[in-house]
Amino acid sequence: MTLGACAGLLISPSAHKNFEFIASGMIVSLVLAHVISGWQEDRFLNWLQQPTLDTTQKHGAFWASAADRIVRLLKNKEAQRLASEDSLRQFLAAIQASPHGVIILDKDTRIQWSNQTASEHLGLDPKLDLQQLIGNMLRNPVFSDYVNSKTFDHEVIIEGRDHRIDSPHKVGVQLFPYGDGRILLLSRDVTLIEQAETMRRDFVANVSHEIRTPLTVLAGFIETLQTLPLSNEEQEKYLTLMSNQAFRMKSLVEDLLTLSRIEGRHLPGQREWVSVKKIFAHIEEEAVGLSLKLHPLLPDRQRLVFELLNQDEAAEISGSASELISAFSNLISNAIRYTPSAGEIIVRWSVTESGGIFSVKDSGPGIAPEHFARLSERFYRIDRSRSRDTGGTGLGLAIVKHVIQRHEGVMDIESKMHSGSKFSLLFPMHRLRLGNLHSTVEQVNGI
Ligand code: ADP
Repeated sequence: MTLGACAGLLISPSAHKNFEFIASGMIVSLVLAHVISGWQEDRFLNWLQQPTLDTTQKHGAFWASAADRIVRLLKNKEAQRLASEDSLRQFLAAIQASPHGVIILDKDTRIQWSNQTASEHLGLDPKLDLQQLIGNMLRNPVFSDYVNSKTFDHEVIIEGRDHRIDSPHKVGVQLFPYGDGRILLLSRDVTLIEQAETMRRDFVANVSHEIRTPLTVLAGFIETLQTLPLSNEEQEKYLTLMSNQAFRMKSLVEDLLTLSRIEGRHLPGQREWVSVKKIFAHIEEEAVGLSLKLHPLLPDRQRLVFELLNQDEAAEISGSASELISAFSNLISNAIRYTPSAGEIIVRWSVTESGGIFSVKDSGPGIAPEHFARLSERFYRIDRSRSRDTGGTGLGLAIVKHVIQRHEGVMDIESKMHSGSKFSLLFPMHRLRLGNLHSTVEQVNGI
């Protein structure tokens, strides 16, 4: 109803009646409007208790606009939540992929979160062990002292999950306090580093010991020569002993240099070809000289046999001539030194379908199988005095093993106590170039 119409009704004769009618109409409208608004308010409040992003719900114009704004706000918040959830997921995935173990601890050192690597390092369950005190989980006195010291500027080394004496597993752990009293624990597997460090320490100790012994003996003889009046014969005797000690030191230093040269070098390439026949000529001469030096008298002489069949003598090995000569000589020298007088040593080269084999067989004392695995360790000796007496440095088989590995081959040991030993070096076929005879046989067989 327009304003003019209302004024007309009010000034007309039946204005009183009209006024009553209009008033009651207005009251009804007001009540109705109030009821509707209350209903919309209720609906809005209900919706507000659990707002959805559904915009099809009907609210009054005012409430609808308020609801629209809230929905927009909620949508923004939801997008923000999804974005931060996504970056948290990415962040955790990155920490999971880290090669380091990561554990988040609260200010009481209770576990809040840990990545898989940390769990593997320290034997924790990433879910079941949440809220546990880290000290209770690790139960390691070194770590407990470290936590109590509150000095975290260094790493501590503790035993890892699968640590056993025969299979050590060492883990480096360091704490980094951050934020509001929280602590970040980082762990890393240091088993190999620790092993290398132990080997380095042992090696330095062994070398020092090996050099100190002949040096002490030499110093003793020098003092004797300086202080005691000795006959010519005695002087000669002492000088020979001194020369032996000097020779021993020289051999040791030479073997050490050979080892470090081999370790520092690139792998021998496949372009340099070494003639097996030429190597044989070289090592045979050396072997005869050494055997005669150790067993000079006739009934005591060793029988040395060098077998190189016609069909195999043209073979060539690709690799380093000096390394191969060093490996072959070391095996022959061992056989000569450990085989007693009148014993027999057979050195052989043969080519089979799977590759070339260089072997040295002796009739010496033999080696018990429990030593096989350790024979090529530096300074490992079964009989220390026998090795020293015959001029051994304890590095021979370490050099042999290095050389054969660098030529992609393997070393094989066969031995029985009191029945001699056989050391074989197996070279793969792709490291061999065979002579005419072989290639003819291969062509005939269609290999
Ligand atoms: P060494 O200089 O002491 O001979 P090696 O590394 O060449 O050092 O050899 C390691 C140890 O292996 C030797 O000390 C010796 O006990 C044993 N060995 C090596 N070759 C033979 C062999 N042919 N017969 C018996 N024992 C051997």
